[in-house]
Amino acid sequence: MEENTFLEKIFRLSPIQKKALSKLRLKTAGDLLRYFPVRYGELSKIKAIEFLVPGETTTIYGRISKLETKKGWKSKVAYGEAVVEDGTGSIKTIWFNQPYIAKMFGEGSLVRIEGRVSQKRTKATSESEAQVLYFSNPKIERVDSIPDGTENSLFGVGDEAEAYGLSPVYSESRGITSNWIYHSVQKILKTGITEKIQDIIPQEILERYHLPSLHSAFFWIHAPKKKENGEAARKRFAFEEIFLIQLDRARERKLAEVEPAFKINKSKKEIKEFTDTFPFPLTNAQQKTIDSIMGDLNNGHPMSRLLEGDVGSGKTAVAAALAYAIVTTPPPLRKYGSLQVAYMAPTEILAEQHFESFIENFAKYKLDIGLITGSGAKKFPSKVNNQKSTPISKNQLLKWVVEGKIPILIGTHSLIEKKVAFKNLAGIIIDEQHRFGVNQRQKLRRKTDIVPHLLSMTATPIPRTLALTIFGDLDLSVLDELPPGRKPVMTEVVLQSRRSEVYEKIRKEIKAGRQAYVICPRVNEPDPDKEMAVQAKSVTEEAKRLKEKIFPEFNIGVLHGKMKPKEKEEIMKKFKDGKMEILVATSVVEVGVNVPNSTSIIIEGAERFGLAQLHQLRGRVIRSSHQAYCYVFTESNSANTLKRLKSFVTAKNGFELAEFDLEHRGAGDLAGAKQWGVSDLAMEALKNIKMVEAARKEARELIEKDFELKKYPLLRERLRSKTEQIHME
Ligand code: ADP
Ligand code: MG
Repeated sequence: MEENTFLEKIFRLSPIQKKALSKLRLKTAGDLLRYFPVRYGELSKIKAIEFLVPGETTTIYGRISKLETKKGWKSKVAYGEAVVEDGTGSIKTIWFNQPYIAKMFGEGSLVRIEGRVSQKRTKATSESEAQVLYFSNPKIERVDSIPDGTENSLFGVGDEAEAYGLSPVYSESRGITSNWIYHSVQKILKTGITEKIQDIIPQEILERYHLPSLHSAFFWIHAPKKKENGEAARKRFAFEEIFLIQLDRARERKLAEVEPAFKINKSKKEIKEFTDTFPFPLTNAQQKTIDSIMGDLNNGHPMSRLLEGDVGSGKTAVAAALAYAIVTTPPPLRKYGSLQVAYMAPTEILAEQHFESFIENFAKYKLDIGLITGSGAKKFPSKVNNQKSTPISKNQLLKWVVEGKIPILIGTHSLIEKKVAFKNLAGIIIDEQHRFGVNQRQKLRRKTDIVPHLLSMTATPIPRTLALTIFGDLDLSVLDELPPGRKPVMTEVVLQSRRSEVYEKIRKEIKAGRQAYVICPRVNEPDPDKEMAVQAKSVTEEAKRLKEKIFPEFNIGVLHGKMKPKEKEEIMKKFKDGKMEILVATSVVEVGVNVPNSTSIIIEGAERFGLAQLHQLRGRVIRSSHQAYCYVFTESNSANTLKRLKSFVTAKNGFELAEFDLEHRGAGDLAGAKQWGVSDLAMEALKNIKMVEAARKEARELIEKDFELKKYPLLRERLRSKTEQIHME
C-alpha cells in the first residue's frame, strides 16, 4: 500500500460509502491518514445489548421504539422513555427531565446510545434479563446505519481501541461513520505505510520546536495513548499547515519585491489639494495611511497593503486618495489617457454606495466612472446630464474599459469575470476583503501584464495571529482612530421583560427624525439555500409583528438574502432617502452599509452571532454625530453567552473582540473563517502566537536562502500542489 493507493482498492465500499468519501474529499490512503479527529472522546466500548454489564459505560447501536413522554408517579416530573433493540436484545432508556427527547426521534430510527448501564432495583420478575438493565440519561444521536457486526461484540475483546485511553471522534458524512473511519485508519496504519511517507518539514525545524516526527505524529493523532501525545501531534500538523501558508506568502512577498510596477509619483501638495476637497479634515490615521500608500506607489514595485479599520473609520476616503493618485497619472510613454483603477466590493449595495461617493469625490475632475454588477452597468457622467449617472449596457461599458476610457471601474465579483479587461490597470482596491478569497484577489490582480498596486481593506477585526498568517504577504496599515465627534454607541443587553421600554425609546428617536435597524437572529443551516429561506421568513414575520403590534405608525421595510439584487437596492435606497423609518433585516446589512441617519439597532438572538459580527452590525449606527444605541436581546441565559455579550458592551474596539472570540469560542467562529481555507486544526493553532511567529520566521528565512526550495524538493512539491489547490477553488 502506498500513500496514493485508492481507498476502493483497500476496502470494499458500498455506493453510499463511495459517495460519502468523495464528499469528504477522501480518495487515497494518504487522504484518510490526514483526516484528523475533530476531538477525542473518553473511550467507551461498543457492545451488543446482550453483553451489557451493569455499571459499565458503553456504547450501543440499535433501533429505537416505544418512544413515550411520561410523568413521574409521585414527583410529576416529565421524562422520556424508549426501548432500543439491536438483534441480540433490547434495553430500556430513560431521560429524566428531558421529556422532549422522546419527540426528537421517530419510531424505528437508528441511534447510537452512549452512557452508563444501570440496573433496576424493583422486582422485575416477568421481564427478561436485558430489560432489567436500563440507560439513564444516556447520550443519544441518530445514525444512518449500524456498524457491521454490532450484533456480536464486534469492537470488543482484543480490538485495538481497547488499548488506548482516548477514542478519536471524526466528523461523519451520510454513509461514513466516525467508527468506520477509525477502524479504516488503524488498518492503514498497521501496514507500516507511515515509515515510507517522507516528512516535508526540514529536520532541523522539527528539532528546534520539539515537534514529533511524521511517523509518530500519524499514530498519535489518530489514537493517542496519552493526551500529551495527541496534543503534540496536533501541534505538529498545525505547524505544518501554517508553515506552508507562510511559505506561500513569503514567496508572494518576495516576488512582489522584484516585480516592476507602474511608478506613481504624486507630491504631497497634489494629494493635499485633492483631500482638501473632502467635506472634512482627514484624521491623523487616515493621513498617515495615505502617506504610506504614496510611498509604496513610488518605489517601483507593486504595493500590497492591507488596511484594517473599524467600521466608520473612513476607509473610503483613503481609497479615494489612492484612486486619485493613480488616475491622474498618464500611462508610461504616453501623454494622454490615464492609468486605471478597479474597486471591488462584496455586495451590490456597497458597490453602488462607493460609486455614489466616488462621483461626489471626482465630479469636479471630469473623470468617467463605471459601475458593473450582476444586475447591470452604469456610467458617470451621463451624456445628457453631466451631474448624473446613467444605466448603459455592460458590453458598451466593458468596451470603453478595455480602450482605457474609463479610469475608475467599481463593481462586485463581476469585476473578476474573464470578459472584463483593462488597458492600463494600475491599482486594485478591495473593500471588505475578508469576503473574498485569496484566489479572487489574485485573479483580479492577474488581469494584466504589469502587476497592479493593491489596497485591501477590511473592517473585520482579525486577531493578530490570523493576520500574520493569512495576510503574511501584505503590509499593514491600521485606522485606529474614528473621525472626531463620534460618540461611542450606547450598547445594552436588554432583558426580555424590558422589551417594550426599548421600543418606546426607539419610537422617541424616530419621532426626532432618526431611523432604526432590527436584525433578526442568524440561522445555522448546512444548506445555504434553506438558511436563506428560513431567514427570509423570520425577517418577514418580525416586520409584520412590529407593524401590527408595535409601530403601526411607521413604514417598515425588509431586507434579506432571498431578495433579488434589484429589490435589495430599491429597499436600501428607500431607507437611505428616509422613506421608511425601520429596516428589518438579516445580517445582510453587516457589510459597510452607510445610512448616517440610522441611530438605533436592535439585535435579536445575539448569542448566535460571533462577537466580531455583532461589532460590525453595531457599526451600522456609528455613522453620524448623533448619539447611537444598540439594544441586544438574547434567548440564552448561559453564563458563557452573558460573558461574551458583556465583553461586547465594554470592548473598546473590534480587535479586542476578535481576540476574545478566538480565545473563547474557537477560531471557527471568526467571521468569514471558512473563506480562508485554513483547516480547523490550524485555526486552533492560531491561539498560539508563538507558534505562528515561529512558522513565519522559519518560512521567511527559508525563502530568503532558497527561493526555489531547491534543497527541499518535498516541500516544494507540497507547496506547489497546495497553491494549485487554493487557486483551483
Ligand atoms: P468605513 O471605514 O467603515 O468604510 P466610511 O469610509 O464609509 O467608513 O466612512 C464613514 C463615514 O465617515 C462616511 O460618512 C464618511 O464620509 C465619514 N468620514 C470619513 N472620514 C472622515 C473624517 N476624517 N472626518 C469626518 N467624517 C469622516
Ligand atoms: Mg466601508
